Amino acid sequence: MASTSHANAASASRPGARLLIVGPPGAGKGTQAARIAAALRIPAISTGDIFRENIRNGTPLGARVQHFLDAGDLVPDTLTNELVADRMRQPDAEQGFLLDGFPRTPEQADFLDAHLAQHGGTLDAVIRLVADNDEVIIRRLVQRGLELGRSDDTEDTIRHRLEVYTQQTAPLIRMYEQRGLLAEVDSLGPIGHVTARTLAALADRGIIADEPANHQLADT
Ligand code: ADP
Repeated sequence: MASTSHANAASASRPGARLLIVGPPGAGKGTQAARIAAALRIPAISTGDIFRENIRNGTPLGARVQHFLDAGDLVPDTLTNELVADRMRQPDAEQGFLLDGFPRTPEQADFLDAHLAQHGGTLDAVIRLVADNDEVIIRRLVQRGLELGRSDDTEDTIRHRLEVYTQQTAPLIRMYEQRGLLAEVDSLGPIGHVTARTLAALADRGIIADEPANHQLADT
C-alpha cells in the first residue's frame, strides 16, 4: 500500500514529537498516554504518576505534595514546573515526549512555552480526549477507587477535581485550539479504538507511528 511506505519513510526521517494529552479526570488519559507514547517511541510523562510514586516511596517531595493530592487540589505551580522541567531534560525526552496532566494552569502553560523556546522546540500537537458527562466520569472513578485504592478517587474529591479542571485547565484548550494544535478524539468505546482514533488524528498532522505498533494497539 502506497500510504504504508509513505508512513514508514516519514516515521524513519522524523524525530519524535512533543505532545500533550488533556481531558478531564476519568477520560482515560493515563491509559492512552502510555499506548500513544509507546507507538511513537517517546516517553509518557505523567505528573500525577510522578507525585504518586514519590508519595509511595516516602520521599521529601511526596511528603510535600500528599495533602494536595488527597484533597484533589493542584500542587503549587513552582513545584510542579521544576519537576517537569527536570524530567524533560532527561536524555530519553530529547527527541520528544507526551505530557499527561501538565500543563494544568495558565502559569504552567506559560512555563512550558518558555522552557521549549529556551531549548529550541515547540509543541507539535495537543490531544484532547473528549469525555462522557460528569456523572458517568464520577461513577467510573469511584469504581476505580474501590478497585485500585487510589486515595483521591472518592466522590467528593472527584467532584472537586472536575471543578478544578473546568476552572483552571479547560480554558487552556481554547488557547491551543487558537494555535491550531488541537487534535480532538472521542474517548468513548474500547481502549484500542480510542488509541487508533488518536493515532489517526496525529497522522493527519504528520505525526506517524510505526505501522506494526499501530496495528497491535488498535487490535486490543
Ligand atoms: P486526574 O486527571 O484523574 O485528576 P492525575 O494523576 O493527572 O489524575 O492527577 C492527580 C493529582 O495530582 C491532581 O489532583 C493534583 O493534585 C496532582 N497534579 C497532577 N498534575 C498536576 C499539575 N500539572 N499541577 C498541579 N497538580 C497536579
